[in-house]
Amino acid sequence: MSQLLLPAIRQLIATSSISSTRPEFDQGNREVIELLANWLGDMGFACEIIPIPGSPHKANLIATLGKGSGGLVLSGHTDTVPCDDSLWSQSPFELTERDNRLYGLGTCDMKSFLALAMEAARGLKPEDIKQPLIILATADEESTMSGARELARLGQPKARYAVVGEPTSLTPLNMHKGIMMERITLTGKSGHSSDPSKGRNAMDAMHKIMTALMTLREEWKTQYNNPGFTVPMPTLNLGCIHGGDNPNRICESCSLEYDVRILPGMESETIRHSIRRRINPLAEQLGVGFELSAITPSIESFASQPNSQLVAACEKLTGHTSTSAAFATEAPFLSKMGMDTLVLGPGDIAQAHQPDEFIGLDTLEPTIELLRGLIKKFCLTETGEES
Ligand SMILES: [Zn+2]
Repeated sequence: MSQLLLPAIRQLIATSSISSTRPEFDQGNREVIELLANWLGDMGFACEIIPIPGSPHKANLIATLGKGSGGLVLSGHTDTVPCDDSLWSQSPFELTERDNRLYGLGTCDMKSFLALAMEAARGLKPEDIKQPLIILATADEESTMSGARELARLGQPKARYAVVGEPTSLTPLNMHKGIMMERITLTGKSGHSSDPSKGRNAMDAMHKIMTALMTLREEWKTQYNNPGFTVPMPTLNLGCIHGGDNPNRICESCSLEYDVRILPGMESETIRHSIRRRINPLAEQLGVGFELSAITPSIESFASQPNSQLVAACEKLTGHTSTSAAFATEAPFLSKMGMDTLVLGPGDIAQAHQPDEFIGLDTLEPTIELLRGLIKKFCLTETGEES
């Protein structure tokens, strides 16, 4: 571990880059991207900053060492969630070493990974690189995933393998569920409560529609099952409902928000379509207007390729069998671009999004060693097939 690692983590933590769907919390990540581009540029990486359309303060970075069509992507997001300073024992933006841990916002999730990827690449000689090593730094993972979406749109970067370094306590994760957050809005007709026939009650209609959704949820249980997950079926959570304004008025408008967690093999568009097909005739029959919209763009589920060489290599290097995650990542975007992808990084997800977020100092060296092992296998040999 070089003298440069801790100062790099310190500087990344000090450069705040909160992303949030709430505009009052949302910041850019440009400064973090520029820090990384400067450091990686000095190390001989070719750095390409990819702006996020419509967000001048946000960007992705693709930093490439070596040339070729194969190679390995080490990917991390540069943004963090918002934080409440008053709940922290020290400043979230000041790296604090205590009890064999590094505290700070983004230490675990996941600025340290970017510094560790850089550290693993330090000292590589260009002439030794047979397949490119790409360090990818993205924007907005914690909010809209606009960074990963833009990369998917551009089809960049291109490589054969990709490791998403989210905190997994260095256990490879080969699948996670996808997330959809959607809203159904029903529009009826208001009127005096004394004569229900004079209006069409949107809340009454929503009751029937909720029942239909719960039936659909039961059907999914028999249609889909993946024993690799703690909750092996897709879930549909009715999260909140808003409707009406007064007890003596027929409710004109009612909206329901729900979250669906889909298994690998299920596509969000197919699920949306089946919900629409189920609700449409019902709404027609009840005489209410029906609108279905996404609250946030969906995140697809993720599963590593069957017989993935990357999974095999990571299991061998870590000594852990791969498992599933209960959280979503940028992995499906990289996987859809054709890369053999998996999620693996230092730190415990339990510490992410918490006051006093930290990463254990004792995980730094093993992470560097693991990443060097992957670089050796996938970048320093012609095919990545022999070690
Ligand atoms: Zn993260």
